[in-house]
Amino acid sequence: MTFLSKRVQKVPPSGIRRFFDLVLGSKGVISLGVGEPDFLTPWNIRDEAIYRLEKGHTTYTSNLGLIELRNEISKYLANQFSLSYSSEELLVTNGVSEAVDIVMRAFVDDGDEVILPEPTYVCYRPLIELCGGVVVPLDTSLSEFVPRADQIESLITEKTKAIILSYPNNPTGQSIPFSELEKIGKIAMDHNILIITDEIYGDISFDPFRSIAEISDIKNNIIYLNGFSKTHSMTGWRLGYIGASVDHIEAINKIHQYSALCAPTLSQYAAIEACKSVNEVPKMKQSYMERSRFFANYLNKLGLETLLPKGGLYCFSKISHLEDSSLQFAEKLLNQEKVAVVPGSVFGVGGEGYIRSCIAINFVDLKLAAERIGSFVKSYAK
Ligand code: PLP
Repeated sequence: MTFLSKRVQKVPPSGIRRFFDLVLGSKGVISLGVGEPDFLTPWNIRDEAIYRLEKGHTTYTSNLGLIELRNEISKYLANQFSLSYSSEELLVTNGVSEAVDIVMRAFVDDGDEVILPEPTYVCYRPLIELCGGVVVPLDTSLSEFVPRADQIESLITEKTKAIILSYPNNPTGQSIPFSELEKIGKIAMDHNILIITDEIYGDISFDPFRSIAEISDIKNNIIYLNGFSKTHSMTGWRLGYIGASVDHIEAINKIHQYSALCAPTLSQYAAIEACKSVNEVPKMKQSYMERSRFFANYLNKLGLETLLPKGGLYCFSKISHLEDSSLQFAEKLLNQEKVAVVPGSVFGVGGEGYIRSCIAINFVDLKLAAERIGSFVKSYAK
């Protein structure tokens, strides 16, 4: 007899973490595993947190987040993405991770269907299922990892509550063209469905990025998620935010106020500075772009088909001609060549047959990792 709820028993542990427990045990490994920027948080942001700490700004904030921060996020979204969210339409969270959790809990009832284009980031599926929701996957590997509006529409039933979009995508690096987003928006309106859009890599898009939340007549149907982890190299600060209508924010905040109270106060002060200092971001973006171009081109030459990423920190490469199981490929690569990548299977339907490599490591190691993958690929010919 277990004390655990049936829902928790059904949820598997994160595939990324399970694989990286293996990596921790081995020496001399080059890790292309965890999706984390390799830049330090810019100094002015750290400095602001130190200043606030010295001043003793260590109490709770309002549940919604500091009003000064919400005002700055509002300006940031207007300047960077032409999005219009007032401070009342914003809720500051403990990373986008908490945002996804409380959004699912606010909207998903038992039996509700949620359309999820996969492969995609690992948290959506378990968090939907923990609410009793049913994931309806859309395999984007059949359309170069870009979901089309007609494919989404074909999956809609009476039970469909929401569609999740997460672009530029982790792990594939692909984005949805704005013309397609307009069609998806129209479908959501016609069928009265919610669009939950996680745009945490929006500011690390190599092409000019346009958000679906720009389309003003569907704004009520949109839950917009973003955060500071990737764009501003602030993964450990745990800061994200939700943009939605005031009614929706109030409802989501009911869960946030009981489960989190507020996002970390020092991080919120630091984030005010982050919103104001956008000049570091283009440099970081340029560097991610150069590294991902190098890596994708190198792996393509090795015969591991890799689409050029449109943004983010990852390359997604096909390995199915060498190995049926991406987990087996990743384990062998780790053991033989000491390079850690994430098996594509952990990212859901359509991910098997691929590996994800995070390119946010120094160029010397990235080149060495690419060469080691080259030696590994050659070992299959023997
Ligand atoms: N959303 C996506 C698409 C991600 O790739 C990640 C982290 O890798 C997260 C959310 C989690 O972000 P945060 O650090 O803000 O919780």
